[in-house]
Amino acid sequence: MGIYNIIRSEEDCPCCKKKSEMYFQFKTACSSSAACLTVFSVGDTMPWLSPSHKFYSTMLDLVDDADLEIASDGTIIEHAYGECISCKKELRGKVAIKDLKILSLTSIEPNPDWPDNNGPL
Ligand SMILES: [Zn+2]
Repeated sequence: MGIYNIIRSEEDCPCCKKKSEMYFQFKTACSSSAACLTVFSVGDTMPWLSPSHKFYSTMLDLVDDADLEIASDGTIIEHAYGECISCKKELRGKVAIKDLKILSLTSIEPNPDWPDNNGPL
């Protein structure tokens, strides 16, 4: 299913060592019935249901358990997969989200899980 949100950021690439534009895909607060494929930046707050809505917690339904960590303060940490625009290498990183606000994109490293010609974007 090609349903995900996108975070765009300029980061130091661990492969080509340049400060590069990067796009990572993640699935928190993404659903087939809401707008998806939205490009966000660090600091953005994502649209979603209000916290009192009975389906509020479904914001994580599309996130693979293996890609999800929940910090003790409730911060969602999703392992995101992406690409460096400069060198086209596949990367992975961690997107931290608290109360639907994208706090950070960290831990960017080469993604060992994908063959070179099978990127996410
Ligand atoms: Zn690069």
